[in-house]
Amino acid sequence: MGDRERNKKRLLELLRAAGTGNARCADCGAADPDWASYKLGVFICLHCSGVHRNFPDISRVKSVRLDFWEDGLVEFMTHNGNLRAKAKYEARVPAFYYIPQASDCLVLKEQWIRAKYERQEFMADGKNISLTGNREGFLWKRGRDNAQFLRRRFVLSAREGLLKYYTKEQGKSPKAAIHLKDLNATFQTEKIGHPHGLQITYRREGHTRNLFVYQESGKEIVDWFNSLRAARLQYLKAAFPELPESELVPLITRNYLKQGFMEKTGPKQREAFKKRWFALDAQERRLLYYKNPLDAFDLGQVFLGSREQGYEVSEGLPRDVQGNRWKAGLTIVTPERRFLFACPSEKEQGEWLESFRDVLSRPLTSFHLLTASTESGPSSR
Ligand SMILES: [Zn+2]
Repeated sequence: MGDRERNKKRLLELLRAAGTGNARCADCGAADPDWASYKLGVFICLHCSGVHRNFPDISRVKSVRLDFWEDGLVEFMTHNGNLRAKAKYEARVPAFYYIPQASDCLVLKEQWIRAKYERQEFMADGKNISLTGNREGFLWKRGRDNAQFLRRRFVLSAREGLLKYYTKEQGKSPKAAIHLKDLNATFQTEKIGHPHGLQITYRREGHTRNLFVYQESGKEIVDWFNSLRAARLQYLKAAFPELPESELVPLITRNYLKQGFMEKTGPKQREAFKKRWFALDAQERRLLYYKNPLDAFDLGQVFLGSREQGYEVSEGLPRDVQGNRWKAGLTIVTPERRFLFACPSEKEQGEWLESFRDVLSRPLTSFHLLTASTESGPSSR
């Protein structure tokens, strides 16, 4: 066996070696990474390797399977690896800081990788991360009634527990003052149509208000996101002093479990099916629906309790009912009524079914019992 084949075999064994953490991408956790940074000593996935290429002074990448590895580099990888690198580069990640997963958008992964290795913000002897729950700056915000993005000044104050934004640059009174209690921020790059698109939601008069914003700078928008998370964690700690930080951190951000178009009928179930955009918030156990994906307000919400409380979901529609354009039906039964949906394809139907089952099988947490109402929300329009 030549050097080439022998070294490749050693690396492939190293990827599977127990206690190394090499079986998952060091940066996003994706399974079976087959790229590596031979300057940092980490195994990473193809997507993350693309980010590493942007700072060659700090990281150099090779494919485990396709590139030639010299003996010295294989030695280096053997003595480093993902768990050791994690101990070094992630020694002090603040509790609020969002660590991206494989399914997250590129800007989140990119900024995490840069913060970790390029700026070395989380090393034990590194500089302190400067993010706090206070921040001020400009974001491009989508107009409520038209699709135009306008530059708006945003001010986040963890002490006041508020995020405010202003329509006039020197304006004294904010257009909105959003309480951190109700605030959620989640990257929605596809829906917004911008690689840095962030959706900020809050509750207003029983509905969910959506703001869609972005910033040209990837660092700036991810810093905003993590500052909002810092402020939210500060709020949650004050509001629920009896809960440990480890239980509060997962409550900071709510990512939608699933989104997409379905058709729904009204409460009598004889109304014509109408196409709506749906977003499933698993943590709040709410299915929100909108006329269009970027609407400022939802049209209505369906609360999804647990199976024990009598909530059920099943495939198909009642015998005498059918969707307008779409046939793949779903029925949700709540203690109050039945909700009928039609999905654009069997694939979508399967994904929605799995997502609803996931939510209904989750027990209501102590946090939920403390905060959420069990109303069905405003009735459909
Ligand atoms: Zn990765």
